[in-house]
Amino acid sequence: MYKKDPAVSPKLFDVSQAASYLGVNPGTIRRWAHNGQLKGIKVGIRGDWRFTETELLQMTTSVTSETQQLQIPADQNITNSELIKTPNIPHLEWGDMTSTDHFVQFYENDAFLLDSLSKFIGMGLKENDACIVVATHEHRTRLEARLQSYGIDITEMQMKGYYESLDAQQTLEQFMIDGLPDRKLFFSIIEHVFEKITPKRKQIRVFGEMVALLWAEGNHEAAVQLEALWNDFGALHTYSLFCAYPMHGFGKESHGLHFREINLNHKKVIPTESYTALINPDERYRTIALLQQKAEALEAEIIDRKRIEQQKDEFFAVASHELKTPVTSIKAYTQVLARKMQKKGDSETAEHLQRIDGQLNRLSALIGDLLDITRIDVGKLQFQETTFDSNELVTEICTELQMTTETHTIKKSLKAKTSVFADRARIGQVITNLITNAIKYSPDAKKIHVRTETTEKQTIISVQDFGVGIHQEEQQKIFDRFFRTKSVEGNTFPGMGIGLFISAEIIKRHNGKIWVESEGKRKGSTFFFAIPLHTGN
Ligand code: ADP
Repeated sequence: MYKKDPAVSPKLFDVSQAASYLGVNPGTIRRWAHNGQLKGIKVGIRGDWRFTETELLQMTTSVTSETQQLQIPADQNITNSELIKTPNIPHLEWGDMTSTDHFVQFYENDAFLLDSLSKFIGMGLKENDACIVVATHEHRTRLEARLQSYGIDITEMQMKGYYESLDAQQTLEQFMIDGLPDRKLFFSIIEHVFEKITPKRKQIRVFGEMVALLWAEGNHEAAVQLEALWNDFGALHTYSLFCAYPMHGFGKESHGLHFREINLNHKKVIPTESYTALINPDERYRTIALLQQKAEALEAEIIDRKRIEQQKDEFFAVASHELKTPVTSIKAYTQVLARKMQKKGDSETAEHLQRIDGQLNRLSALIGDLLDITRIDVGKLQFQETTFDSNELVTEICTELQMTTETHTIKKSLKAKTSVFADRARIGQVITNLITNAIKYSPDAKKIHVRTETTEKQTIISVQDFGVGIHQEEQQKIFDRFFRTKSVEGNTFPGMGIGLFISAEIIKRHNGKIWVESEGKRKGSTFFFAIPLHTGN
């Protein structure tokens, strides 16, 4: 796809750029230019064609009809006439949308989205429709620059109330409650925008990117619910709605179900540019065949990998179990020996044996983590819930860990009312992991601050350090299995990148939430987790 930044764009498109822009073959462009369908100018001694974007935009409506004609072979039979009724080419006539379309476009590159969006909104404004754009700041800015280059005066359109542009993130924040869209709030906010704009023009076009933001955040349920809300809102108002999602957000097998739901929520689905840009039916069938082969191969590969994964899990379970037994026994003998040496007055050997004991503790914790990972994988991480005071647990762990460090002072600030119903040992494991990480990743600091606070429904425990910090981009990934930040890679910090993954799983299984805040490199980090308070409190 030809990428074109409006700010630095050439004023004229050559044949191949025009072909990419319209998604047709260069030969088609030359033919259109030759027979005068597409207005262009000839330049240079060879008389090469050049076209303005406005002329290309004008062509977008006729491209579809030409495309559809192309599909109808001369000797039509029943299958071919079916094809005409349901053309296999999902080109949209941007100038001739129905007033109640709800379609979704998947895209690979921003440039492609911007092309479609500019045509959808540009044609809309030219056809005297009112247009509402709810998008990211970047997309709104680039769209408006493109519209200006089509000769559309955006400021005038805005002043007349024909064009309304809203920030997707800010709009979302106005109607999201507890991670899901609130129906009443959503209706009242969108209603308000419509009221501003509807009296001015008959038909309305909306481009919405809020669903894509929710999807990118990993809030898939909310994205699907918001699509459904737009459909419900469509029962009260007449408008055509264009949604867009980057295809790279659907790269997991587990996304399949929601992907299907998203498609069901739309009247039309437009595949990404690698398919849509192919204009020739033969090319399209070939592409479908290739995709089918790829899907088949991937399906087989997934089954194969799952089998290997299962074997690996079983191996891990057995191996960590086998490791645990001799470690426990070495530990017992070490302690017996240490006591003997102490009695004999050989305090130097006794101290060495205590060091061995300390290292054995680390080894058992690592083996425990490996076992937990396996249990998580096979869905067998089990919990024994009891009612306990989380402040007491925090105090116990802080006292215990304070004995293991000479470099850091663990400071506590605990608030009242902290009775929870949870697995005490597992919550303790999370707190221990956060504090030991805080010590490990702040080698130059002297203090760790552990706090508890309560809201009406939750107790929140946080561990703050003043160490290496975590870069903004890595904060989302920090709870993924085996993830280690760039600042610790190649450094001397020991670790396997599984402690936080296990902690996150434990908190998730307690219906809680775990997150991190850090202003970045060398600014320290604060890890938080929240679990529900005991209801009988
Ligand atoms: P490990 O510490 O064994 O590598 P974790 O799962 O506990 O594994 O942590 C994952 C990664 O998160 C660490 O490798 C480190 O990069 C980062 N991390 C964890 N805690 C902190 C912290 N307090 N400060 C900075 N980075 C941290």
